Amino acid sequence: MNPAYPFSAVVGLDDLKLALVLNAVSPRAGGVLVRGEKGTAKSTIVRALAAQLPPVAVVAGCRFHCDPAAPDPGCPDGPHEPDAAWVRRPASLVELPVGASEDRLAGSLDLERALTEGVKAFEPGLLAAAHRGVLYVDEVNLLHDHLVDLLLDAAALGVCYVERETVSVRHAARFLLVGTMNPEEGELRPQLLDRFGLTVEVRATREPGERAEVVRRRFAFDADPEGFAARWAPEEAALAERIARARAALPAVRLPDARLRQITAVCAGFEVDGLRADLVTAHAAVAHAAWQGRDVVTREDVRVAARLALPHRRRRDPFDAPGLDERLLDDLLDQTEPGGPDGPDDPEDPEDREGPGRPEGPDDPGGAQSDGSRPDGPAASSHEISGEGGGAASDAPPGDGTGPTPRSGDAAPRDSAPEEVAAVGTPFRVPVLRVAGVGEGAAGRRSSGRGRHGRAIGTRLPGGTGPRAIDLPATLLAAAPHQVLRGRRGPGLVLRRDDLREPVREGREGNLVLFVVDASGSMGARRRMTAVKTAVLSLLLDAYQRRDKVGLVVFRGRGATVALPPTSSVEAGAARLRALPTGGRTPLAEGLATAAEVLRVERMRDPDRRPLLVVVTDGRATSGGDVTRAATALAGVTSVVVDCESGPVRLGLAGALALRLGARVLPLESLGDLVPKRRKAG
Ligand SMILES: [Zn+2]
Repeated sequence: MNPAYPFSAVVGLDDLKLALVLNAVSPRAGGVLVRGEKGTAKSTIVRALAAQLPPVAVVAGCRFHCDPAAPDPGCPDGPHEPDAAWVRRPASLVELPVGASEDRLAGSLDLERALTEGVKAFEPGLLAAAHRGVLYVDEVNLLHDHLVDLLLDAAALGVCYVERETVSVRHAARFLLVGTMNPEEGELRPQLLDRFGLTVEVRATREPGERAEVVRRRFAFDADPEGFAARWAPEEAALAERIARARAALPAVRLPDARLRQITAVCAGFEVDGLRADLVTAHAAVAHAAWQGRDVVTREDVRVAARLALPHRRRRDPFDAPGLDERLLDDLLDQTEPGGPDGPDDPEDPEDREGPGRPEGPDDPGGAQSDGSRPDGPAASSHEISGEGGGAASDAPPGDGTGPTPRSGDAAPRDSAPEEVAAVGTPFRVPVLRVAGVGEGAAGRRSSGRGRHGRAIGTRLPGGTGPRAIDLPATLLAAAPHQVLRGRRGPGLVLRRDDLREPVREGREGNLVLFVVDASGSMGARRRMTAVKTAVLSLLLDAYQRRDKVGLVVFRGRGATVALPPTSSVEAGAARLRALPTGGRTPLAEGLATAAEVLRVERMRDPDRRPLLVVVTDGRATSGGDVTRAATALAGVTSVVVDCESGPVRLGLAGALALRLGARVLPLESLGDLVPKRRKAG
């Protein structure tokens, strides 16, 4: 097998290297989320990191990587004797494919063997393999929801728990979580975002000299991986040694109380939620101090840690742009600097002190760059990285003088036409909209669904991966007629695996309800938009109660915006809706095209969750592309058009749109009246 591309040979990406190194020094830095466009060597560098992690001692033969010094008491391969043989192995790097099954991630219990052979057989999954190593998820934002839930549980508890019927297994699963994502393909769920300690924005360097060096090294590596790795071996060895030294020094690094208070003040200043930000920042600052060969945390350590730990926690909802206002960071640091803003240096903060084992060179986790093509220090280049793209935009004050527009949810280009924000009325009960047919989505309260919940409607032979649940009466009935032939002597039934029967249950599933709302000027007068918002809010609350995921696409002016990426948070949707301004032209086709794109991405994430499209419009398109074509891309999706046309003269355009979408039409005014009134009891 070819050697991995050397970590030290990666050009640029200083923030990313630093974030990974801090995690190698201290697992409490909490993992790394790498955000950026494709083709930025994200995967290369993560794989390179694994080679830099110190090897781990594991109990020989234990499939769950127990530490011989402290074996997992509940280890399925245990219990291990205190003097059990052990081996030293490289830290594992386990890749979790976005489309993996639950069994692949968490492991699987062999129900067949449990019933037919009477043994508890557990096949470990990727979480077991990643224990005490790295779990790497490329395109983590496309991870299926059921895997996200498993991952969140394991990350929170450090334990993987698998249960089928009455058989259960648990084992330790602590790992360094590293994910990459391209934000253009959809955001992460907030709970998962919060699980990553540090986050880094990357993009390919725009500097021609650096780009040339990237290509040169890649060529050299591809032509002769062994030779290339050998040439970088001294740098790699030095880096590994520095990491090991920092790890050893970590427990002795002091975090003075004044510094801790500075950290909490900075976190408060950025209005982050919860205490996790403070904890991660403190751990990262300590790790950075150790990495720099210091035994006391300094202002610089806090600054570096905050810059990596806060950007993704500061954000209020998934639609805000990432990045951290570094001027605000410096102001906050100044205000909270022990000894006052302009006072003398912190006596505990001798920036220029040569600590024991302080390595040569600046804050450069990759070791010395042999090409010398990076004239600017890490501070300058990292500023460039986090300041690019949308990062700076979110730091602008809310609104732009045009009125109470939402902060950054309104990314649609503005028309010169006036816009206003209509109020939202009191929500009302709405008719139940269902997706036709029977789905296999997550449990909920909307459409018919077949799955692990609900009323048993029959049994079947298990599918490919074996039974997930067992219908015991049906299994026994299947086995009963063969007992004499199977030579049964004693009281126990002789079972074989082809006797196993799985229950088939039918209940209700939750769906993805995607609202596509026309917020153009043609939706007109304030009162009508209020009616529209009230109707959408009512539908939104209904969706929440039915355990749907909801998303909101808005079109107006020159384009369409995903105002709310699909989420289970009704609060986020309601907030977006309240702040939604109205005005401008009506690019209906763009609205439909954006909806089609949202559904495409969601299909990858959660293929079993069936969508329900709710288009709220008067059907009039005054700008943009071909509506017929856009509607074709939504063929096969169950759709409803809420017709917002009002007045004595009606064009019936919403009806025409519904025809193209194969949708049912519901008039806006009658939405609340369609609910059958509850008869009084008695
Ligand atoms: Zn073990």
